[in-house]
Amino acid sequence: MPDDIMLRASARVTLTDPAGMFDRLCDHFIDHGTVTREGGSARLEGTFGAVGLTLEADALTIAATSPNESYLFVVKSSIAEHLVEFADGEAIALDWRGDGIGETRIPYFREVVVRDARDITPAMRRVTVACGDPGHFVTGGLHVRVLIPPRGRAPVWPSVGADSRVIWPAGEDALAKRTYTIRAIDHERGELDIDVVLHDDSPGSVWAREAKAGDRVGLLGPGGGDVIPADWYLLLGDETALPAIARIAENLPSSARASIVIEVADASEQQEIASEAAIDVTWLHRNGCPAGSTDLLPKAVRAIALPAHGTHFVFAGCEQAAARAIRKHLRAEKQLPKDRHLVAAYWRRGHADVHDHGE
Ligand SMILES: Cc1cc2nc3c(=O)[nH]c(=O)nc-3n(C[C@H](O)[C@H](O)[C@H](O)COP(=O)(O)OP(=O)(O)OC[C@H]3O[C@@H](n4cnc5c(N)ncnc54)[C@H](O)[C@@H]3O)c2cc1C
Repeated sequence: MPDDIMLRASARVTLTDPAGMFDRLCDHFIDHGTVTREGGSARLEGTFGAVGLTLEADALTIAATSPNESYLFVVKSSIAEHLVEFADGEAIALDWRGDGIGETRIPYFREVVVRDARDITPAMRRVTVACGDPGHFVTGGLHVRVLIPPRGRAPVWPSVGADSRVIWPAGEDALAKRTYTIRAIDHERGELDIDVVLHDDSPGSVWAREAKAGDRVGLLGPGGGDVIPADWYLLLGDETALPAIARIAENLPSSARASIVIEVADASEQQEIASEAAIDVTWLHRNGCPAGSTDLLPKAVRAIALPAHGTHFVFAGCEQAAARAIRKHLRAEKQLPKDRHLVAAYWRRGHADVHDHGE
């Protein structure tokens, strides 16, 4: 993106040990992007933008650039969170200047209202929400964080502090946060469909089971990695990734080919997968085994050979152990480069709300 249409924000933070903070920020962001250091200057670059750090005797100067207001907010709030975390109790006065000044709401937050909820299979419930401007949800990723208010209370949504950190409602107003895919966007009606797997009495399942017209819910996003153009796709997942797989398949061009492998409880959980691409769909049934307890998906990946010609892309979403096995196999055995696969843990057996994308 040309530099003149980037958004910018900067801040100068006085610190007792600016050099220590400089080192900790650089060391931390190595895991999240590219860090270039030269003397007392550093540049941190990642998906959401770039941050320049300049070391002074008693302070650190921070200069953030990003292509849009949502990304700039992610950069500013992430820097602010890490400054506070690494300050070991020292008070941090972060006075941002430039773009995004005075924002009190997260730019990619939207309140939406439930229109309808209905079962589409015995264990999958579709919640349709009215979202105002559906255009907001078209790019930037397939999923959202759904912010579920406590039952019977008027929602209190997260706000933004002067330092750009998110202030989450606490106590009786605390929100449950769960990640779901936007299965479909209806531009004419201004609606989104979210397909939720019903299991246990977990916050996400209870929300979907009890959702009724008029309920308010918050959405953060969209987010997530991109499915990049390829000649051949392998789309894999359990029922939690079925909405993502179905949406990806619907958007493939007619020139593409795709092998699709989906693990579900049994035949009653199968859904029609529509696509203009040449697709072959294989359903794997757990036949009574609990979700997240089988190695059906890793086994299926091992049995599939990548086509000898053309470009490939593999998308997978499933329980964490299966996701790890699939990622390991793709990298070590199939030698698939990092940018040719997106394998994510969509949930972790025995743990609530795992948000591990593992890229
Ligand atoms: C990028 C992304 C996209 C996702 N898209 C969807 C989607 O479109 N639809 C969807 O239904 N899910 C989706 N998920 C998965 C969903 O976020 C998790 O399943 C989440 O844990 C559900 O929250 P919960 O409140 O129901 O259960 P939690 O409170 O998180 O967990 C409670 C217990 O239930 C177990 N558990 C969680 N999920 C399941 C499951 N599916 N089956 C059996 N046990 C489970 C946990 O291990 C834990 O023991 C997505 C996840 C990611 C990361």
